[in-house]
Amino acid sequence: MDTHILDGKKVAELVRAEWKVRADKLVQLGVKPGLAVIIVGNNAASAIYVRNKIKACGDIGIYSEVHSFPENAAQDEVLACIQSLNENPHIHGILVQLPLPAHFENNRVITSIATEKDVDGFHLYNVGALVTGNTAFSPCTPYGVMVMLEKNHIPIEGQHAVVVGRSNIVGKPMALMLLEQGATVTICTSKTRDLSQFTKNADILVVATGKPRMITAKMVKPGAVVVDVGINRLPDGKLCGDVDFESVKEIVSYITPVPGGVGPMTITMLLCNTILAAERAQASIK
Ligand code: NDP
Repeated sequence: MDTHILDGKKVAELVRAEWKVRADKLVQLGVKPGLAVIIVGNNAASAIYVRNKIKACGDIGIYSEVHSFPENAAQDEVLACIQSLNENPHIHGILVQLPLPAHFENNRVITSIATEKDVDGFHLYNVGALVTGNTAFSPCTPYGVMVMLEKNHIPIEGQHAVVVGRSNIVGKPMALMLLEQGATVTICTSKTRDLSQFTKNADILVVATGKPRMITAKMVKPGAVVVDVGINRLPDGKLCGDVDFESVKEIVSYITPVPGGVGPMTITMLLCNTILAAERAQASIK
């Protein structure tokens, strides 16, 4: 099988170059896109994600600021910070890095973000907009997958897409976006009986389980397109996906590597959503 590797780094570069033009145009109009990131607690992975997001903002010309709170911060303090960012005209996007400490109510915090600044697309209003096909901000990871498929001219309409995983940030929005583009969608979870009976029938298989290399070659249809969202750290410190890349790549038409597949697209789409939010803000004051 002639397998194509879906190179997330390359597509991310291309997309960032396209959107940098839009960011530069805003700057010429006197509007610098601005992103505020809120982080609560000492989660090491979250700290790395935030650092990467801030660096990517600088590279594309987005102003960014981080608001850090200690693990024992009161929810009201964070809500007050979000409120002031909602009212700050220099901030077009607000992102709360998840997970929040256990004493926080996720939905209360996320729904306090102004819907037009919800660049992660997690506000219940924006989730509803996605469900009804009126997407305002697409959640970054599944949005990145869709853009990667599009840029590689992979058809979606009429295809059977199987999404393994049903989280609010990946699996569910992924399934909705594929559905919106005309795929016939099956969603599998940890409760699915005989998973391979579904995965073997997928023209497009998206896996987001957090279970290292759980999808093996015998679970995949020859010629399928396989997108591996998973990022798992192995005991030896190396990263791997939820798909057994080495065996699966031998039989499929397209596959994403880990690292270097979906990962670089996620941050890219956050940048795009922030620039989009700034464009909308600029258009509304004309
Ligand atoms: P969650 O833990 O929130 O969800 C995992 C989902 O996988 C659940 O719906 C679960 O089912 C399902 N699942 C777990 N085991 C199985 C199994 N054996 N068979 C079928 N389904 C199973 O994870 P996330 O969605 O947040 O993340 C998934 C992976 O993607 C992780 O590795 C994460 O690190 C990575 N990730 C990568 C990103 C990127 O930018 N590349 C961004 C976000 C996440 P159930 O609901 O029944 O428990």
